[in-house]
Amino acid sequence: MRIVVLSGGIGGAKFLAGVRAHARGLGAEVTAVVNVGDDVRMHGLQICPDLDSVMYTLGGAHDPERGWGRVGESWVVKEELAAYGAEPSWFGLGDKDTATHLVRTRMLTAGYPLSQVTAALCARWQPGVTLLPATDDRLETHVVVDVEGERKAIHFQEWWVRYRGDLPTHRFVFVGAEAARPAPGVLEAIAGADVVLVAPSNPVVSIAPILAVGAIRDAVATGPAPVVGVSPIIGDSPIRGMADKCLATVQVDVSAAGVGGLYAARSAGGILDGWLVDTSDAGVEVPGVETRAVPLWMTSEETTAQMVKDALALAGVA
Ligand code: GDP
Ligand code: CA
Repeated sequence: MRIVVLSGGIGGAKFLAGVRAHARGLGAEVTAVVNVGDDVRMHGLQICPDLDSVMYTLGGAHDPERGWGRVGESWVVKEELAAYGAEPSWFGLGDKDTATHLVRTRMLTAGYPLSQVTAALCARWQPGVTLLPATDDRLETHVVVDVEGERKAIHFQEWWVRYRGDLPTHRFVFVGAEAARPAPGVLEAIAGADVVLVAPSNPVVSIAPILAVGAIRDAVATGPAPVVGVSPIIGDSPIRGMADKCLATVQVDVSAAGVGGLYAARSAGGILDGWLVDTSDAGVEVPGVETRAVPLWMTSEETTAQMVKDALALAGVA
């Protein structure tokens, strides 16, 4: 069996650990198509937060408490940069992480596309799934906000990390998405998949930028594989992160029904065949989409693997 997962960073990574665990038992192959909208260049380094969250988590090297970055991290480079007054000072650049960014930036500068750079980094971490950036082209999420009395677009990282989303926020713009082509392997993986799963990632700033690449959206929406999404919202809680602020900006209800409606049925021009919601959201309806309620708290790899099993059953492939 071949499973494709559309994924953001931390939530996607947790989900993928469960996908990998369940896939092992089935002898299934897993390909993760990962958001690059958060990617940013800082201090001359190309940083890919979502790809790194997935790579470190599946490689067993992530910090489970902080959620992002490396376990056992140190911060000498960040302190030294601050001592020079080098901006931006609000971004957490760990020493171990910096080595990843150095290798990545060096390879990109030498002309390798991000997909090949990612494969090279994964040679060390052995994530056990194929990690593909959604695109090798520039695609960055920017946020239109009011800051100090002025309306302007800032990079998503600045909105998220520096301001904690706490600014009057008008919209998200996926800069470069129109011209961006799927990275090599992405369309092939979707066309050859037995099932496509949408991880319980942030729908607005993790999944939407992937689907903003038109050819990826078309491949998912019109491909042969059933598509099942897993709700990132349980009750009215985004669990962690700022999905609530993001959903409010795009005027979608912070609920499993709201996000299911945002993705919408394939038969209605959306991407979903099935929508997995938490047991506390049993009864949620999304027109044209088959919904099922199961426990959706990713408290351990085993519970997450059970969610994946349920998602495959809803897709009718297991
Ligand atoms: P990011 O890119 O690092 O922000 O991570 P993602 O976009 O991949 O995932 C973040 C989302 O994961 C959050 O908005 C939460 O809604 C969701 N999430 C986190 N933990 C859980 C969980 O245990 N269960 C479910 N269903 N969703 C979760
Ligand atoms: Ca992210």
